Amino acid sequence: MKKLQLAKIKYFTLIIGALTVLSCNTNDKKTTASKSDNPYEEKVDSIISLMTLDEKLGQLNLPATGPITTGSSKSTDVVSKIEEGKIGGLFNIKDIKNIYEVQKIAVEKSRLGIPLIFGMDVIHGFKTTFPIPLGLSASWDMEMIEKTAQIAASEASANGINWTFSPMVDISRDPRWGRVSEGNGEDPFLGSQIAKAMVNGYQQNDMSANNTLMACVKHFALYGAAEAGRDYNTVDMSRVRMFNEYLPPYKAAVDAGVGSVMASFNEIDGVPATGNKWLLTDLLRDDWAFNGFVVSDYTGIYEMMAHGMGDEVAVTSLALKAGLDMDMAGDSPNISAAFIKNLKTALDNGDISMKDIDKAVARVLTAKYQVGLFEDPYKYCNEERAKNDVYTQENRDYARLVGAESTVLLKNENQILPLKKSGTIAVIGPLAKASNNMAGTWSVSTDHENCISVWDGLQQTVGNDVNLLYAKGSNVDYDFELEKRATMFGKTIPRDNRTDQQMINEAVAIAKKSDVILATIGESSELSGESSSRTDIGIPQVQKDLLNALLKTGKPVVLVLFTGRPLTLVEESENVPSILNVWFPGSEAGLSISDVLFGAVNPSGKLTATFPRNVGQVPLFYNHKNTGRPLGNSEGHFEKFKSNYIDARNEPLYPFGYGLSYTTFKYGDVKLDKTSMSQKDMVTVSVDITNTGDYDGKEVAQLYIRDVIGSITRPVKELKGFQKIFLKKGETKTVSFTLSVEDLKFYNTNIDFVAEPGEFQVAIGTNSNVELNKTFKLID
Ligand code: BGC
Repeated sequence: MKKLQLAKIKYFTLIIGALTVLSCNTNDKKTTASKSDNPYEEKVDSIISLMTLDEKLGQLNLPATGPITTGSSKSTDVVSKIEEGKIGGLFNIKDIKNIYEVQKIAVEKSRLGIPLIFGMDVIHGFKTTFPIPLGLSASWDMEMIEKTAQIAASEASANGINWTFSPMVDISRDPRWGRVSEGNGEDPFLGSQIAKAMVNGYQQNDMSANNTLMACVKHFALYGAAEAGRDYNTVDMSRVRMFNEYLPPYKAAVDAGVGSVMASFNEIDGVPATGNKWLLTDLLRDDWAFNGFVVSDYTGIYEMMAHGMGDEVAVTSLALKAGLDMDMAGDSPNISAAFIKNLKTALDNGDISMKDIDKAVARVLTAKYQVGLFEDPYKYCNEERAKNDVYTQENRDYARLVGAESTVLLKNENQILPLKKSGTIAVIGPLAKASNNMAGTWSVSTDHENCISVWDGLQQTVGNDVNLLYAKGSNVDYDFELEKRATMFGKTIPRDNRTDQQMINEAVAIAKKSDVILATIGESSELSGESSSRTDIGIPQVQKDLLNALLKTGKPVVLVLFTGRPLTLVEESENVPSILNVWFPGSEAGLSISDVLFGAVNPSGKLTATFPRNVGQVPLFYNHKNTGRPLGNSEGHFEKFKSNYIDARNEPLYPFGYGLSYTTFKYGDVKLDKTSMSQKDMVTVSVDITNTGDYDGKEVAQLYIRDVIGSITRPVKELKGFQKIFLKKGETKTVSFTLSVEDLKFYNTNIDFVAEPGEFQVAIGTNSNVELNKTFKLID
């Protein structure tokens, strides 16, 4: 009798799956689910009506399992829990065979046969790995960024994954925070464009296709504003700042149809995001009309106990009632507060209702429909695709190009770069041969050992034309304990047991035999990333000492700088003739870097985060307010009783939007087609840009405005447009931007999105350090 019933339920599930196929073809798949427009509502409701409470809570349970480590707790007895219907999805599980096996258990052995959803941190590529997001953002190339996400989706989905915990769109102005590496820098306008490009890239307007992923915008919200740049620290911010400066990229992802949202670890207005109803329901669902599901971050629900929000039952109820649907990593033996462990008690106590639970279950089941798992639970487990579509030469060639396009040339005195393919080049530094560090942080599916190091890339590029010499020169850090933390997760750089002086001596001897020195130094991969906040954001001293010894040889030095964050580089910028910031370029790193060094690619990357002069200036960002006591001189001299430092200047070392090229660009006079516009009008701002140097090249023209007078204080500059153009040597192009009233809007004290009549200053420039010397008026 029982068996018959089970067979019936499974058959029912299959029928639902079949129906899905039909509805999938007739609905706009970009739109996520809501009461009114959810095409799966009926099917979802009928499944829910068959579910026991345990099975419902199971759907809300997302345990961490498998070999990837992104937090400190893992689940146990996963197989029996799947059989019992106590798991809704898994993450950090790798390998298509494993995924197929566990999916089979869910579909064939659990009572209702509901398929699992498989998440993963596919952050900047899957196996083919692109630059870390901060580097990728420096390309300012939205098409390229979108394509990287599309390739990542195609590779990950070929390996059983249907859901990625990306894009990370947290605005950050604090380079002490290790996770600046994972975001797109400091600007809400650029950040919003990138958020949209990433969501489109992953989801391709059809999450149910077998080569796309459901995206998950994170970390909602304000995670990048952790006090003192210390990871997981408190955030406290005014509504006005939040809405104008930090929230836009999340909203852009929602507007682009992102399927899911991850709540952040931090608090907002004193309530952790994980349990913040204002954030997860009032703002996200009611105001922004988000219809997908919300997942916690790793043990985020449990962590609300440490935040001081109550006991196990209190925090789980708080999260569910706030609008959180899925519990990530709560299902681990060392974690006491979890949906699966405490919601039953909460229900018995009357803290939550069955309706609250059903709402969350419906959202998770809807997501499974959206990615097509009811249609075919194995649709992402195609061995042929796993063999043929991953790490292809085509994808790797693209990663090579993206790596090169993301590099930022910070300095190039005497045109040392591009290098000639002749003579002797000394390749020196602890990162020169460190293939396993090339992909940078958050690259959990990369084949680290097979990434292309600088040394290998150079060898492949120059063949026998150049005599390449190598010396390691130094360890990563004087402090071995710090070095271990900075090279973990399989990214170990073997510690050299020679003395520091012996290593320097060898490097100097080799340098002396060369025509040019490539100092491949900076941060190792895990010196940035999650839980890698730093109070000193310089190049580690041992490597600085090496660099200085190399400079003393008098040979030209090119600093090939690896970093996951803006660094303080005052000494380097004064003493090293050429600095090429390569971030962590990805799996093809050595080739990307060689392409730039020898001029096959002319660098065109521009910083998306300000580089401060010293850590004391942090947070430092271009779109700051003027204050009542701004400096009265543009040279940056100290002025008493003005807003400045007694021991340092206000300006950054390298401003937002900065980056050089092997060629030079001349900007003409900015022209406006009118000097006043009504609310319905547009103003066109244009400029002629000429390539005045000796190479063809790309330039990112940036449009900035200033709203001179407002009902609240307005930033001294705001990016409102950019265009990346290609100019042949000697060529001139006119670049035009159209500003509408939408571009002039901001959130006022009442959090109304308004444009206020008055004067606006405007400029188009090569970086944010541009004088706003034209004006127009917005009239009523
Ligand atoms: C991170 C998230 C990540 C999650 C799963 C957390 O520690 O904050 O960004 O997606 O782990 O790996």
